[in-house]
Amino acid sequence: MIMEGIAAGVAALVVGQGQVLRLNVPNEPGLEAVVVEWNDQSIPFVQGSDGWFTLVGVDLDASPGEHAAELMWTYRDGRVWHDIRQIDVAGREFRTTRLEVAPKYVELSAENAARAARESQEINEIYARITPEALWSEPFAVPIPGTTGGRNFGHRRVFNDQPRAPHSGADLTAATGTEIRATNRGRVVLAKDLFYSGNAVFVDHGLGIYSVYLHLSEFRVKPGDIINQGQVLGLAGATGRVTGPHLHWGVRAQGARVDPFSLLQ
Ligand SMILES: [Zn+2]
Repeated sequence: MIMEGIAAGVAALVVGQGQVLRLNVPNEPGLEAVVVEWNDQSIPFVQGSDGWFTLVGVDLDASPGEHAAELMWTYRDGRVWHDIRQIDVAGREFRTTRLEVAPKYVELSAENAARAARESQEINEIYARITPEALWSEPFAVPIPGTTGGRNFGHRRVFNDQPRAPHSGADLTAATGTEIRATNRGRVVLAKDLFYSGNAVFVDHGLGIYSVYLHLSEFRVKPGDIINQGQVLGLAGATGRVTGPHLHWGVRAQGARVDPFSLLQ
């Protein structure tokens, strides 16, 4: 059932490629659940102090233009309402960066290629899971307070003269040993050495939002741990495919590659 008028007068929501978009729905008596269909996924809303909200991710390669998002309200008496919101994705220009890394990260051995493929599948399975609750309650924060850098999200990358996937996170300046803090409360779902990412920690914040912390020198958490915002989860390092020590901070929202800084706004 498509009900006209629920969003009467609501203009399309405008969002840039690689951004997180917050959707809000007012509180209503008898309202039991709200869900948005976006990118072939059902993303639940949760009830906050001033209404229902969720966060949806717009991938950095999402096609510019209007995309339909279908919202569904379910009431305790069994009524179900649907409405379509237009989300207008604005194209962005991303710079190209050229990097020199150890040849083994560009010309992969059969063994390393198999390992990278296996890990890629494992990671995609993590991103595909949408925990139907928000595990956080405070605003998101930068994992290294007061750090510089981190404005290279989305850069098209050329490693040793070979084009590779765009940069899916923000690289924060950090000497080896710098304490890395959780951007928000969540559950650790992975803490292990990965071929490209080196020592990596993945945190599930719920609603399909994951933050990742790569190239660490040491772990301070393990899978299954619930960690609070600001808790040290590891130390910065230079493990994996890097040009030197730094923190790669990444965020996925329902699998979409988004700029972690867009979570802070
Ligand atoms: Zn990076």
